[in-house]
Amino acid sequence: MSTPQPKPWIAQIHAYVPGKSKSASGKPLTKLSANENPLGSSPAALAALAEGHVAADYPDPDARALREKIAEVHGLDPDRIVCGTGSGELLHCAVQALAGPGDEVLASRYSFSLYPLLAQKVGATPVLAADDNYAASVDNLLAAVTERTKVVLLDNPNNPVGTFLPPSEVVRLHAGLPSDVLLVVDEAYGEYVDPAFQSAAFELAAAHENVLVSRTFSKAYGLASERVGWVTGAPNLIDLVNRLRGAFNVSVSGQKAALAALGDQAFVTASREHNAKERTRFAEAIAMLGNHGISACPSEANFLLVHFEGSVSAAQALEALSDAGYAVRHLPSQGLPNSLRITIGTAEATTDVIATLRRLCGEAA
Ligand SMILES: *Cc1c(COP(=O)(O)O)cnc(C)c1O
Repeated sequence: MSTPQPKPWIAQIHAYVPGKSKSASGKPLTKLSANENPLGSSPAALAALAEGHVAADYPDPDARALREKIAEVHGLDPDRIVCGTGSGELLHCAVQALAGPGDEVLASRYSFSLYPLLAQKVGATPVLAADDNYAASVDNLLAAVTERTKVVLLDNPNNPVGTFLPPSEVVRLHAGLPSDVLLVVDEAYGEYVDPAFQSAAFELAAAHENVLVSRTFSKAYGLASERVGWVTGAPNLIDLVNRLRGAFNVSVSGQKAALAALGDQAFVTASREHNAKERTRFAEAIAMLGNHGISACPSEANFLLVHFEGSVSAAQALEALSDAGYAVRHLPSQGLPNSLRITIGTAEATTDVIATLRRLCGEAA
Protein backbone atom coordinates (compact mmCIF):
# COMPACT_ATOMS: atom_id res chain seq x y z
CA MET A 1 0.00 0.00 0.00
CA SER A 2 1.26 3.44 -0.75
CA THR A 3 1.73 5.97 2.04
CA PRO A 4 1.69 9.77 1.86
CA GLN A 5 4.88 10.84 0.09
CA PRO A 6 6.80 13.98 1.07
CA LYS A 7 7.96 16.52 -1.46
CA PRO A 8 11.43 15.48 -2.67
CA TRP A 9 13.13 18.42 -0.91
CA ILE A 10 11.42 17.48 2.35
CA ALA A 11 12.52 13.84 2.03
CA GLN A 12 16.13 15.03 2.06
CA ILE A 13 16.07 16.97 5.33
CA HIS A 14 16.57 15.89 8.90
CA ALA A 15 15.01 17.47 11.99
CA TYR A 16 17.03 20.17 13.79
CA VAL A 17 19.32 18.51 16.36
CA PRO A 18 19.20 20.34 19.71
CA GLY A 19 21.96 20.37 22.37
CA LYS A 20 22.07 17.37 24.69
CA SER A 21 21.11 17.43 28.36
CA LYS A 22 21.88 13.80 29.27
CA SER A 23 24.95 11.57 29.13
CA ALA A 24 25.01 8.40 27.01
CA SER A 25 23.95 6.47 30.15
CA GLY A 26 20.99 8.81 30.74
CA LYS A 27 22.52 10.73 33.65
CA PRO A 28 21.22 14.35 33.69
CA LEU A 29 23.99 16.85 32.94
CA THR A 30 24.44 20.59 33.39
CA LYS A 31 23.82 21.94 29.91
CA LEU A 32 26.65 23.88 28.34
CA SER A 33 25.30 22.74 24.98
CA ALA A 34 22.53 25.18 24.04
CA ASN A 35 23.95 28.62 24.92
CA GLU A 36 21.33 29.20 27.60
CA ASN A 37 21.83 31.91 30.24
CA PRO A 38 23.53 30.48 33.37
CA LEU A 39 22.08 33.37 35.43
CA GLY A 40 18.56 32.17 34.58
CA SER A 41 15.98 34.88 33.87
CA SER A 42 15.34 38.42 35.04
CA PRO A 43 13.45 38.45 38.38
CA ALA A 44 11.05 40.92 36.75
CA ALA A 45 10.25 38.39 34.02
CA LEU A 46 9.77 35.62 36.57
CA ALA A 47 7.42 37.86 38.57
CA ALA A 48 5.40 38.60 35.42
CA LEU A 49 5.13 34.86 34.71
CA ALA A 50 4.06 34.18 38.31
CA GLU A 51 1.14 36.61 37.91
CA GLY A 52 -0.53 34.08 35.67
CA HIS A 53 -3.07 34.84 32.95
CA VAL A 54 -6.39 33.71 31.51
CA ALA A 55 -5.35 30.56 29.68
CA ALA A 56 -8.66 30.38 27.82
CA ASP A 57 -7.98 33.60 25.88
CA TYR A 58 -5.87 34.01 22.75
CA PRO A 59 -2.84 36.28 23.03
CA ASP A 60 -2.64 39.68 21.33
CA PRO A 61 -1.98 38.61 17.71
CA ASP A 62 0.12 41.72 17.07
CA ALA A 63 2.10 41.72 20.33
CA ARG A 64 1.54 45.48 20.35
CA ALA A 65 2.72 46.27 23.88
CA LEU A 66 5.82 44.15 23.40
CA ARG A 67 6.66 45.74 20.05
CA GLU A 68 6.27 49.21 21.55
CA LYS A 69 8.61 48.34 24.41
CA ILE A 70 11.20 46.85 22.01
CA ALA A 71 10.96 50.03 19.93
CA GLU A 72 11.42 52.21 23.00
CA VAL A 73 14.46 50.28 24.26
CA HIS A 74 16.22 50.22 20.87
CA GLY A 75 15.03 53.50 19.35
CA LEU A 76 13.08 51.75 16.57
CA ASP A 77 9.69 52.16 14.88
CA PRO A 78 7.19 49.67 16.38
CA ASP A 79 5.53 49.34 12.96
CA ARG A 80 8.84 48.00 11.64
CA ILE A 81 8.97 45.16 14.17
CA VAL A 82 7.41 41.68 14.05
CA CYS A 83 7.52 39.28 16.99
CA GLY A 84 7.73 35.54 16.54
CA THR A 85 7.79 32.14 18.20
CA GLY A 86 11.49 32.58 18.78
CA SER A 87 13.55 34.28 16.11
CA GLY A 88 13.67 30.90 14.38
CA GLU A 89 10.08 31.28 13.17
CA LEU A 90 10.87 34.67 11.64
CA LEU A 91 14.06 33.48 9.93
CA HIS A 92 11.94 30.75 8.38
CA CYS A 93 9.35 33.29 7.20
CA ALA A 94 12.03 35.47 5.61
CA VAL A 95 13.50 32.55 3.69
CA GLN A 96 10.06 31.21 2.74
CA ALA A 97 8.97 34.60 1.40
CA LEU A 98 11.89 34.99 -0.97
CA ALA A 99 13.34 31.58 -1.85
CA GLY A 100 11.99 28.38 -3.39
CA PRO A 101 13.02 25.56 -5.71
CA GLY A 102 15.89 26.66 -7.97
CA ASP A 103 16.95 29.48 -5.64
CA GLU A 104 19.99 29.67 -3.40
CA VAL A 105 20.24 30.68 0.26
CA LEU A 106 23.76 31.70 1.23
CA ALA A 107 25.50 31.50 4.60
CA SER A 108 29.04 31.11 5.90
CA ARG A 109 30.71 27.68 6.07
CA TYR A 110 30.43 27.63 9.86
CA SER A 111 27.14 29.22 10.83
CA PHE A 112 23.86 28.34 12.56
CA SER A 113 22.98 24.72 11.75
CA LEU A 114 19.35 25.78 11.26
CA TYR A 115 20.19 27.82 8.12
CA PRO A 116 20.63 24.96 5.62
CA LEU A 117 17.44 23.41 7.00
CA LEU A 118 15.49 26.62 6.40
CA ALA A 119 16.63 26.63 2.77
CA GLN A 120 15.82 22.95 2.32
CA LYS A 121 12.37 23.30 3.90
CA VAL A 122 11.35 25.64 1.09
CA GLY A 123 13.03 23.60 -1.64
CA ALA A 124 15.89 26.07 -2.11
CA THR A 125 19.56 25.11 -2.24
CA PRO A 126 21.72 25.98 0.77
CA VAL A 127 25.13 27.35 -0.26
CA LEU A 128 27.94 27.72 2.27
CA ALA A 129 30.73 30.21 1.45
CA ALA A 130 34.27 29.36 2.52
CA ASP A 131 35.27 30.67 5.94
CA ASP A 132 38.29 32.73 6.91
CA ASN A 133 39.92 30.76 9.73
CA TYR A 134 36.39 29.64 10.83
CA ALA A 135 34.97 33.19 10.75
CA ALA A 136 32.58 34.52 8.11
CA SER A 137 34.43 36.14 5.19
CA VAL A 138 32.73 39.03 3.41
CA ASP A 139 34.86 38.47 0.31
CA ASN A 140 34.00 34.78 0.15
CA LEU A 141 30.29 35.43 0.75
CA LEU A 142 30.20 38.04 -2.03
CA ALA A 143 32.10 35.72 -4.36
CA ALA A 144 29.48 33.01 -3.74
CA VAL A 145 26.53 35.21 -4.78
CA THR A 146 24.94 34.08 -8.06
CA GLU A 147 21.85 35.09 -10.01
CA ARG A 148 19.98 32.49 -7.98
CA THR A 149 20.91 33.90 -4.57
CA LYS A 150 17.82 35.27 -2.83
CA VAL A 151 18.78 35.43 0.83
CA VAL A 152 22.07 35.78 2.73
CA LEU A 153 21.94 34.68 6.37
CA LEU A 154 24.65 36.14 8.61
CA ASP A 155 24.72 35.25 12.29
CA ASN A 156 26.71 37.95 14.03
CA PRO A 157 28.18 36.94 16.44
CA ASN A 158 28.38 33.61 14.70
CA ASN A 159 27.17 30.29 16.10
CA PRO A 160 29.09 27.92 16.50
CA VAL A 161 32.31 29.93 16.18
CA GLY A 162 31.54 33.04 18.24
CA THR A 163 33.40 35.44 15.94
CA PHE A 164 31.96 38.90 15.30
CA LEU A 165 32.13 40.88 12.04
CA PRO A 166 32.54 44.57 12.87
CA PRO A 167 29.82 46.93 11.56
CA SER A 168 32.10 48.15 8.74
CA GLU A 169 32.33 44.59 7.38
CA VAL A 170 28.55 44.08 7.56
CA VAL A 171 28.10 47.37 5.69
CA ARG A 172 30.62 46.18 3.08
CA LEU A 173 28.74 42.87 2.70
CA HIS A 174 25.46 44.70 2.22
CA ALA A 175 27.00 47.16 -0.25
CA GLY A 176 28.27 44.28 -2.38
CA LEU A 177 24.89 42.52 -2.63
CA PRO A 178 22.38 43.15 -5.41
CA SER A 179 19.48 45.21 -4.04
CA ASP A 180 17.03 42.33 -4.62
CA VAL A 181 18.97 39.96 -2.34
CA LEU A 182 17.81 39.98 1.29
CA LEU A 183 20.51 40.24 3.96
CA VAL A 184 19.38 38.83 7.31
CA VAL A 185 21.64 39.82 10.20
CA ASP A 186 20.85 37.33 12.96
CA GLU A 187 21.86 38.97 16.23
CA ALA A 188 20.84 36.18 18.60
CA TYR A 189 23.96 36.99 20.64
CA GLY A 190 23.80 40.75 20.00
CA GLU A 191 23.39 41.68 23.68
CA TYR A 192 26.75 40.07 24.48
CA VAL A 193 28.61 42.38 22.12
CA ASP A 194 30.26 45.67 23.16
CA PRO A 195 27.29 48.09 23.48
CA ALA A 196 29.08 50.51 21.12
CA PHE A 197 28.44 48.04 18.25
CA GLN A 198 24.89 47.03 19.16
CA SER A 199 22.85 49.38 16.98
CA ALA A 200 24.83 49.34 13.71
CA ALA A 201 22.74 46.61 12.08
CA PHE A 202 19.50 48.37 13.12
CA GLU A 203 20.73 51.46 11.28
CA LEU A 204 21.41 49.39 8.16
CA ALA A 205 17.90 47.87 8.36
CA ALA A 206 16.34 51.31 8.81
CA ALA A 207 18.11 52.70 5.74
CA HIS A 208 17.58 49.89 3.19
CA GLU A 209 14.74 47.77 1.83
CA ASN A 210 16.72 44.52 1.78
CA VAL A 211 17.95 44.13 5.36
CA LEU A 212 16.28 42.34 8.28
CA VAL A 213 17.84 42.18 11.74
CA SER A 214 16.69 39.48 14.15
CA ARG A 215 16.98 39.37 17.92
CA THR A 216 15.80 36.85 20.48
CA PHE A 217 14.82 36.63 24.14
CA SER A 218 16.34 33.13 24.25
CA LYS A 219 19.94 34.02 25.07
CA ALA A 220 21.01 37.07 27.12
CA TYR A 221 17.41 37.65 28.26
CA GLY A 222 17.29 34.10 29.60
CA LEU A 223 13.80 33.27 28.28
CA ALA A 224 14.46 30.40 25.86
CA SER A 225 11.49 28.40 27.13
CA GLU A 226 9.06 31.24 26.36
CA ARG A 227 9.98 31.21 22.62
CA VAL A 228 10.04 34.91 21.76
CA GLY A 229 12.09 36.65 19.09
CA TRP A 230 11.66 39.62 16.75
CA VAL A 231 12.86 41.16 13.52
CA THR A 232 13.07 44.73 12.31
CA GLY A 233 13.30 45.96 8.75
CA ALA A 234 11.63 48.01 6.03
CA PRO A 235 7.81 47.94 5.65
CA ASN A 236 7.98 45.71 2.53
CA LEU A 237 9.84 43.03 4.49
CA ILE A 238 7.75 43.40 7.65
CA ASP A 239 4.65 42.90 5.50
CA LEU A 240 6.02 39.65 4.06
CA VAL A 241 6.95 38.23 7.46
CA ASN A 242 3.54 39.20 8.86
CA ARG A 243 1.78 37.27 6.11
CA LEU A 244 3.72 34.10 6.83
CA ARG A 245 4.04 34.03 10.62
CA GLY A 246 1.61 32.18 12.84
CA ALA A 247 -1.46 34.25 13.64
CA PHE A 248 -1.13 33.97 17.45
CA ASN A 249 2.55 33.14 17.40
CA VAL A 250 3.66 34.58 20.74
CA SER A 251 1.89 33.22 23.82
CA VAL A 252 0.46 35.45 26.53
CA SER A 253 3.17 34.34 28.95
CA GLY A 254 5.85 34.93 26.32
CA GLN A 255 4.62 38.46 25.66
CA LYS A 256 4.38 39.26 29.37
CA ALA A 257 7.77 37.80 30.26
CA ALA A 258 9.57 39.50 27.37
CA LEU A 259 7.92 42.84 28.16
CA ALA A 260 9.02 42.65 31.80
CA ALA A 261 12.52 41.46 30.81
CA LEU A 262 12.97 44.50 28.56
CA GLY A 263 12.28 46.69 31.57
CA ASP A 264 15.13 45.04 33.48
CA GLN A 265 18.16 46.05 31.44
CA ALA A 266 20.28 45.63 34.59
CA PHE A 267 19.83 41.86 34.20
CA VAL A 268 21.02 41.98 30.58
CA THR A 269 24.04 44.06 31.61
CA ALA A 270 24.82 41.64 34.44
CA SER A 271 24.55 38.73 31.98
CA ARG A 272 26.92 40.43 29.53
CA GLU A 273 29.43 41.25 32.27
CA HIS A 274 29.33 37.78 33.81
CA ASN A 275 29.78 36.28 30.36
CA ALA A 276 32.71 38.53 29.42
CA LYS A 277 34.49 37.79 32.69
CA GLU A 278 34.06 34.01 32.58
CA ARG A 279 34.75 33.84 28.84
CA THR A 280 38.06 35.67 29.36
CA ARG A 281 39.03 33.33 32.19
CA PHE A 282 38.09 30.28 30.09
CA ALA A 283 39.94 31.59 26.99
CA GLU A 284 43.08 32.26 29.05
CA ALA A 285 42.96 28.72 30.45
CA ILE A 286 42.56 27.29 26.94
CA ALA A 287 45.52 29.37 25.71
CA MET A 288 47.63 27.75 28.45
CA LEU A 289 46.85 24.33 26.91
CA GLY A 290 48.22 25.40 23.53
CA ASN A 291 51.17 23.02 23.91
CA HIS A 292 48.59 20.19 23.94
CA GLY A 293 47.12 21.29 20.61
CA ILE A 294 44.09 22.88 22.27
CA SER A 295 42.97 26.34 21.13
CA ALA A 296 39.81 28.45 20.86
CA CYS A 297 38.45 30.84 18.27
CA PRO A 298 38.06 34.45 19.49
CA SER A 299 34.46 34.85 20.68
CA GLU A 300 32.11 37.75 21.32
CA ALA A 301 29.27 35.35 22.15
CA ASN A 302 28.37 33.27 25.22
CA PHE A 303 30.39 30.23 24.20
CA LEU A 304 33.82 29.22 22.93
CA LEU A 305 34.55 26.88 20.04
CA VAL A 306 37.47 24.84 21.36
CA HIS A 307 39.66 22.88 18.94
CA PHE A 308 41.41 19.65 19.94
CA GLU A 309 44.30 19.03 17.55
CA GLY A 310 46.80 17.30 19.84
CA SER A 311 46.87 14.04 21.78
CA VAL A 312 43.50 14.75 23.47
CA SER A 313 40.63 14.40 20.97
CA ALA A 314 37.33 16.27 21.00
CA ALA A 315 35.56 12.93 21.58
CA GLN A 316 37.73 12.26 24.66
CA ALA A 317 37.08 15.75 26.00
CA LEU A 318 33.34 15.31 25.36
CA GLU A 319 33.36 12.11 27.41
CA ALA A 320 35.48 13.53 30.24
CA LEU A 321 33.22 16.59 30.50
CA SER A 322 30.18 14.32 30.52
CA ASP A 323 31.73 12.28 33.35
CA ALA A 324 32.31 15.58 35.20
CA GLY A 325 28.57 16.37 34.79
CA TYR A 326 28.56 18.71 31.78
CA ALA A 327 26.95 18.42 28.33
CA VAL A 328 28.75 20.37 25.58
CA ARG A 329 28.19 20.47 21.84
CA HIS A 330 30.14 18.23 19.46
CA LEU A 331 29.33 19.13 15.85
CA PRO A 332 30.94 16.55 13.55
CA SER A 333 27.92 16.81 11.24
CA GLN A 334 28.82 20.47 10.68
CA GLY A 335 32.33 19.52 9.67
CA LEU A 336 33.80 20.17 13.11
CA PRO A 337 34.85 16.69 14.33
CA ASN A 338 37.82 18.11 16.28
CA SER A 339 35.98 20.89 18.09
CA LEU A 340 33.54 21.38 20.95
CA ARG A 341 31.26 24.35 21.40
CA ILE A 342 31.14 25.07 25.12
CA THR A 343 28.63 27.55 26.58
CA ILE A 344 29.93 29.96 29.22
CA GLY A 345 28.18 28.75 32.36
CA THR A 346 28.39 29.75 36.00
CA ALA A 347 31.81 30.49 37.52
CA GLU A 348 31.69 27.03 39.10
CA ALA A 349 31.05 25.40 35.73
CA THR A 350 33.92 27.33 34.12
CA THR A 351 36.23 26.19 36.92
CA ASP A 352 35.11 22.56 36.55
CA VAL A 353 35.49 22.57 32.76
CA ILE A 354 38.99 24.08 32.97
CA ALA A 355 40.03 21.55 35.64
CA THR A 356 38.64 18.64 33.59
CA LEU A 357 40.50 19.68 30.45
CA ARG A 358 43.74 20.27 32.38
CA ARG A 359 43.50 16.84 34.01
CA LEU A 360 42.88 15.25 30.62
CA CYS A 361 46.11 16.87 29.40
CA GLY A 362 48.01 15.56 32.42
CA GLU A 363 48.37 19.08 33.87
CA ALA A 364 47.70 19.87 37.52
CA ALA A 365 44.07 20.95 37.85
C1 LIG B 1 20.03 30.47 19.58
C2 LIG B 1 20.03 31.10 18.25
C3 LIG B 1 18.87 31.69 17.73
C4 LIG B 1 17.64 31.83 18.61
O1 LIG B 1 16.62 31.05 18.24
P1 LIG B 1 15.20 31.28 18.96
O2 LIG B 1 14.28 30.66 17.98
O3 LIG B 1 15.00 32.76 19.06
O4 LIG B 1 15.26 30.61 20.28
C5 LIG B 1 18.90 32.29 16.49
N1 LIG B 1 20.04 32.31 15.77
C6 LIG B 1 21.18 31.77 16.24
C7 LIG B 1 22.43 31.86 15.43
C8 LIG B 1 21.20 31.13 17.48
O5 LIG B 1 22.32 30.57 17.92
